[in-house]
Amino acid sequence: ELLVVGSANADLVVGVERRPAAGETVLGSDLAVHPGGKGGNQAVAAARLGARTALLARVGDDAHGTLLLEAQRAAGVDTAGVLVGGAPTGVALITVDPSGDNSIVVSPGANARLTPQDIRAAGGLLAAARVVSSQLEIPLETVAEVVRGLRPGARFVLNPSPPAPLPAEVLAACDPLVVNEHEARVILGDDAGDAPEEWARGLLALGPRSVVITLGAAGALTADSSDVVRVPSPKVDAVDTTGAGDAFTAALGWRLGLGEELPAAAAYAARVGAAAVTRKGAQDSYPTASELPTAAPD
Ligand code: ADP
Repeated sequence: ELLVVGSANADLVVGVERRPAAGETVLGSDLAVHPGGKGGNQAVAAARLGARTALLARVGDDAHGTLLLEAQRAAGVDTAGVLVGGAPTGVALITVDPSGDNSIVVSPGANARLTPQDIRAAGGLLAAARVVSSQLEIPLETVAEVVRGLRPGARFVLNPSPPAPLPAEVLAACDPLVVNEHEARVILGDDAGDAPEEWARGLLALGPRSVVITLGAAGALTADSSDVVRVPSPKVDAVDTTGAGDAFTAALGWRLGLGEELPAAAAYAARVGAAAVTRKGAQDSYPTASELPTAAPD
């Protein structure tokens, strides 16, 4: 039902008292290794909700790649489309100080080697998918090839993160383009305006068929040529917002594939995002369908 084409990273996390200056060494906590990357996160989030989910990605022929594949399989993701080798598995090197602030270095590794040729070679996966969800932690030309390979009538969901200028061909396929506040502001630049409704209008003018803007605890806003709708999020005690947007986007794509209208799919996705912030981590925090909070009252 849902094909995720995107990145898979190993997140290597060390707690430090303070970050080292140039030339300095500091000692940190024990290393924690977590499966991550926006593509991997989306696939796990959807599968855990019960969606039939496949991942098209590239990892290295190394221990991190094995760890990431195991995490996907444990969640029930079909990993037949995950390519192995060509470069080390992507990693995020993360230090966290006592106030919770991060410093992160990402080595894209194998994610940068997921090529348009890989997408063409995986034509069967793409031709079978009713919904395809992507992000921008893989090459933009690869995402463009995904758009070209969509089966007629298939729905394409894109979270343009990290934000980058998008070709018209990719924008025109997005239904919806899913952004958070930061991504909306980067894409719209100085003309962004202040209200999410203005961002939605500005983003729609770029050519996507529909837009969803996630607004943290305030929920989300959906927009297409006929309607702009505010969707509240359930009230929860937020512990860690890491990966909430990925869970939201995966749930949104799955529900759209089931035939739900955009506001209804976003309301479901908001419940998933809200559940994800109540626990630490990204993939570790993702709920099953029975763990979702009830919808916020309108
Ligand atoms: P990102 O993780 O990309 O920054 P957001 O912070 O907008 O994205 O979160 C994605 C979704 O997760 C939101 O639309 C909302 O439904 C849910 N969410 C995030 N933070 C909270 C929160 N503090 N309380 C309730 N829901 C939240």
